Amino acid sequence: MDQQIVIVGAGHAGGSAAAMLRQAGWTGGITLIGDEPIPPYERPPLSKAWLKGEATAESLALRPAAFYPDSGIALRLETTVSAIDRAGKAVMLSGGTRLPYDILILATGARARRLPIPGSDLQGVLELRSAADADALKAALRPGARLAVIGGGYIGLEVAASARALGAEAVIVERESRVLARVACPLLSQFFHDFHVRQGVAIETGVQVEALTGTRGMVSGVRVGDGRVVACDAALVGVGAIANDDLAREAGLACANGIVVDLAARTDDPAIYAIGDCTVRPLPLYGRTGRLESVPNALEQAKQAAHAICGKPAPAPEVPWFWSDQYDLRLQIAGIPFDTAEIVVRGDVSAGKFALFHLTDTGVVQAVEAVNASMEFMGGRRIIARRKALTRARIEDLSVSMQQLAA
Ligand code: FAD
Repeated sequence: MDQQIVIVGAGHAGGSAAAMLRQAGWTGGITLIGDEPIPPYERPPLSKAWLKGEATAESLALRPAAFYPDSGIALRLETTVSAIDRAGKAVMLSGGTRLPYDILILATGARARRLPIPGSDLQGVLELRSAADADALKAALRPGARLAVIGGGYIGLEVAASARALGAEAVIVERESRVLARVACPLLSQFFHDFHVRQGVAIETGVQVEALTGTRGMVSGVRVGDGRVVACDAALVGVGAIANDDLAREAGLACANGIVVDLAARTDDPAIYAIGDCTVRPLPLYGRTGRLESVPNALEQAKQAAHAICGKPAPAPEVPWFWSDQYDLRLQIAGIPFDTAEIVVRGDVSAGKFALFHLTDTGVVQAVEAVNASMEFMGGRRIIARRKALTRARIEDLSVSMQQLAA
């Protein structure tokens, strides 16, 4: 009988893995199981184009609905996998069905972190992870409505930008001393802070949220550390995501705030792979492991798993990268912009077109944060992959093209 692959999680990683397995020559069965009601779709537009009404359901879909039956992929939606029986090589579905596998791929993604504070269960306290969440948020963003955004990370900033585009008011309340504190360098945080303020977003940093307050079950304010209440009609909680590694942990697979995998996306069970936001993976360029929550990572690991399963050569490790769109700003980050010795600016920060090159103490380029500077981003990725060293003077010199820098 044909070998069976079961993929748990019909998101970006799971949907891509199913397609890549067929591309890599897998002729056995593929079952893709997801607990959401729609086929795999792109989450990035949920905080951007979709929220602003600029995207359609078709444009959100990763692939046309007919792709799955046409490719011999059994797509089971609105189905939750509740347990893994590793000894019996089967997964248990929510309805009690037992589904055997020869190879299992876990692609369960991540979930929005919730705030363990009073008022979190009030109506109008929202999170943004799924298309259903985005629809609820969209309904709250009427012109003139006041949105409190708790957390100044990428999702919080993108939603604030979309809210402004829709004519809603937005106030960001951030616990750290700057927005994007966990993901970007201070200079970039300041640039985005100032840009948002110029667009009419109020930003409060260094503020602890104590409670959400409400009237008749509906959120009406965010109470902060000094006792003030920031009034709002809806509150988005955007304070990070937690890996969905519960299934794996309960099945005894190695987990450390995410399912531990190698560069072939293998877990410590040879029959089980894991990909996407739910994993902790090696970052070979940086000599450490980490959890990457990004579309490029979901695609890279889907390919790693598909190649390993189909006996194809392992794909070369990629430089991690990420993007964020806010207003007419496109931010692209290549590499990991932390723990570096020096930051060199190329371009003009005040004109909103620049790149920040992060160098190690030996001048090796470790990361590039590029704002409306796609040449710098693309060249930066090549430079980082080759662990190339550059001098400050050469990076700053705009008469030296990115092709020359990357050569
Ligand atoms: P997901 O896409 O989350 O898919 C996991 C799926 O598994 C979900 O459908 C989940 O419901 C399902 N599932 C979980 N457990 C089970 C179970 N037991 N049984 C059945 N199904 C289960 N990345 C970028 O690179 N750039 C961006 O600009 C960007 N913007 C984003 C904006 C938003 C609002 C969000 C939420 C994410 C954004 N991301 C962005 C991140 C990117 O979307 C994720 O990294 C990517 O979706 C990860 O894919 P995944 O398959 O690992 O997880």
